[in-house]
Amino acid sequence: MNCAPLYINGEFVETKDKQNVLNPSTGRVIAQASLASEKEINLAIESARKAFDRGDWAGLPFKERKTILFKIAQGILNKAGELAKTETENTGKPIKETTFMDVPSSAKSFEHIANNFESYLSGETLDVVEESRAVLLREPMGVIALIVPWNYPLLIASWKLASALAAGNTVILKPSSLTPLSALELGKIIHEAGVPAGVVNIINASGAKTGQLICSDKRVDMVSFTGSLEVGKEILRYSSANVKKLLMELGGKSASLIFADVDLDTVINSSLCSIFLNQGQMCTAMSRIFVQSEIYDKFVDSFVNKAKAIKLGASDNHETQMGPLITDSQRKKVIAYLEKAKAEGAKILCGGRIPHDPVLKNGYFFEPTVITGVTPNMHIFKEEVFGPVTIIAKFSGPDQAVALANNSDFALAACIFSRNLSLAEKMASRINAGTVWINTYGMFYNRLPYGGFKQSGFGKELGRDGFLEYTRLKNVIIDHSPEGKPLVNYWYGF
Ligand code: NAD
Repeated sequence: MNCAPLYINGEFVETKDKQNVLNPSTGRVIAQASLASEKEINLAIESARKAFDRGDWAGLPFKERKTILFKIAQGILNKAGELAKTETENTGKPIKETTFMDVPSSAKSFEHIANNFESYLSGETLDVVEESRAVLLREPMGVIALIVPWNYPLLIASWKLASALAAGNTVILKPSSLTPLSALELGKIIHEAGVPAGVVNIINASGAKTGQLICSDKRVDMVSFTGSLEVGKEILRYSSANVKKLLMELGGKSASLIFADVDLDTVINSSLCSIFLNQGQMCTAMSRIFVQSEIYDKFVDSFVNKAKAIKLGASDNHETQMGPLITDSQRKKVIAYLEKAKAEGAKILCGGRIPHDPVLKNGYFFEPTVITGVTPNMHIFKEEVFGPVTIIAKFSGPDQAVALANNSDFALAACIFSRNLSLAEKMASRINAGTVWINTYGMFYNRLPYGGFKQSGFGKELGRDGFLEYTRLKNVIIDHSPEGKPLVNYWYGF
């Protein structure tokens, strides 16, 4: 059986310690992956540090880095079919999603940054006072740990890598040990594209072990983390030891607000995608749908009927609309949330079960689930389930809708559906969320920043602001007068 190697200091490293990688559609082992021990983790940090300090990457003219980033994008496209298959087998997400979204969008993120962001790296000169000027230098951060979740392994790794590399940093990329295959494959593409040794290091290891080692290591200057709130808090703790810069993209409990003036069919279709795409395992999943009272009953009836008709199936089947959850333990977590919701008085209108279809019996499938009768004090209202489960509740008018949407410790994303754009735009400014979609859902653009507020984290990915997160700003003040302006002259009044 294939064993995917780590990628450290420009070399592919097969370790003695290996792990099985599963296909959640079948529960079968599809590959093995090397597992980094403390020794390899240290080597990866050391290689990234040395490569940065030698200036192997940041010292290259942007034009040369840009050529390499294009080669990475092309390398992804050249292997698109293979990568989509790997990603589908390893995450369980339907092949349509990986083929048309994850893989091409990953290539695009390298291309977009290479094409558009060079100007943000050039310094700026400001006149301060007569004979003095300041030069603001935009520099790479140094060594960055990129820690990635299992729900979009290739895409999120690509977002982070593209920004970090374009800015001149060196990195240690750590995919989730549940889904390491596409990131390890990306190592080969990066190698073939000509990235100098040590600039990119890719390790696979248990999160808890790597997290502490990397995040508390002084040789690492920044941690860019995407994952759960719980692990995010651990990373904050580890990183506080030496005050690292952090970029935190955490969980969500996003709200969709649907007004009575919408075209019901269109909005129901969009709402189904907004929660059941990737089996609801999306940080921006609309797991709280609020519908204006006038259309509530009709909306719920039709939504439930359509949810029941969603085709569950093996992820490699092009007809499949929903695949399995990532693991059996994730499925158990979802079931536990539903048990709690029922005990607290909520009503499950559809789903809530493992499907009976014998074809699906070995995978971690779960039926699309709709819950009503929910109140804001219930766990299912407040906590991120990360599965194909949404609540639907009603609101009477805009004020109540905003209050419901904002009633959360998370603040990642929200949707508003209404034909009254002026009302929707006014509401958008009152909603506590990093992204508000109006009459659309889930559109991510490489030129637009993305990231949450409150316990959904801080900092941005993507866009100019996302790119700048991976840089630091240095201020150089230069006095041009012949004698200079030593502070002492002012101090003693000379
Ligand atoms: P997770 O927090 O369990 O793991 C994320 C990464 O952290 C993995 O690589 C994991 O191995 C690693 N990790 C685990 N324990 C660690 C530790 N103690 N120290 C350092 N690293 C550790 O998250 P997950 O289950 O892989 O992903 C689902 C979560 O990610 C959800 O909460 C989801 O909302 C969130 N997410 C957020 C965004 C966003 O942009 N805001 C995007 C995707 C996913």
